[in-house]
Amino acid sequence: MPNSLPVVAVASLGGTISMTPSDAAGGVVPTLDAAQLARSVPGLADVATITTASLRQLPSASLCHDDLMEALAWAEQQVAAGARGVVLTQGTDTLEETAFLLDLFWTLPEPLILTGAMRAPQAAGADGPANLLAAVRVAVHPESVARGVLVVMNDTAHYARWVSKGDSLAVQAFVSRDGGVAARLVEGGPVFFHARQTRQQPLTRPVRAWPKVALVTAVLGDDGELAEMAVKGGYEAVVIAGQGAGHVSFGFAQRIGALAEQVPVVIASRASGGSTAYQTYGYVGAEIDLVRRGAHMAGWLSALKARLLVAALLASGVAPGALGNALANWSRLTPQ
Ligand code: ASP
Repeated sequence: MPNSLPVVAVASLGGTISMTPSDAAGGVVPTLDAAQLARSVPGLADVATITTASLRQLPSASLCHDDLMEALAWAEQQVAAGARGVVLTQGTDTLEETAFLLDLFWTLPEPLILTGAMRAPQAAGADGPANLLAAVRVAVHPESVARGVLVVMNDTAHYARWVSKGDSLAVQAFVSRDGGVAARLVEGGPVFFHARQTRQQPLTRPVRAWPKVALVTAVLGDDGELAEMAVKGGYEAVVIAGQGAGHVSFGFAQRIGALAEQVPVVIASRASGGSTAYQTYGYVGAEIDLVRRGAHMAGWLSALKARLLVAALLASGVAPGALGNALANWSRLTPQ
């Protein structure tokens, strides 16, 4: 009888899901490839025909933009070759960033799913096999089509736009604080909670080298010196994780005025959820003042995601002067 299961392409990039103990290193390090991961999952072969590739074996902090663009091209090739969906396994430390970066460029309706593990394979209660199985189940499900890049962890699917790592070590590590989770897995399949949203037009592929975009957190007593040093050091844009709804001190605000004449300056919030304000606070260092000084507000984008979007827009050829408008399309959700 011919095998009628859908094909899902799985590629490994490293991370805890692939880590085994090393005496030399004194802890776990990435060693397993996608084929080994797939073989360790009971029941996977009943859900899909799995093809595998090992693209990287890295802790996720050491992944870079170019690694991800290569993974993106690989994923597109798998879909062109007939895959129903694609799963990338990687470290969870940067998962909220990599998912968002890939989502900015993913044009296809087929699901691109990212997953990982909080416990290494030899640990009691290792979650990698369950996460990979769940990721493949989401990848083959018709309801997952045209939702962009999803992160599947702990039987929950998150949109790239909203997901963040909310806990450093717990198995329930990921949250989608503002937009809410995309789906939960129930008895083997995803239950999506909302109809598909119209996705932003994906960005054109980079036409130049990735720019250096600084991310500076505004802290108590901060006068913005670090942001100024970043620009002096050659950073092409600065994202500031501001206090509260996107605020900085009087001294920092003055520096932002001078910096915004040289490079794009974007103000996000250092809080773990919520949008920046646009038209509420009128004091020096608050959003109305900072926008007057030439800064752009990041809206609902976290500082991490705003930094990636700014870099991706500049890399894809958007002129620094046009960045504010491009950013507003992604960041500002206003009452309907
Ligand atoms: N440090 C690991 C990494 O990001 C953590 C993980 O995979 O969960 O590669």
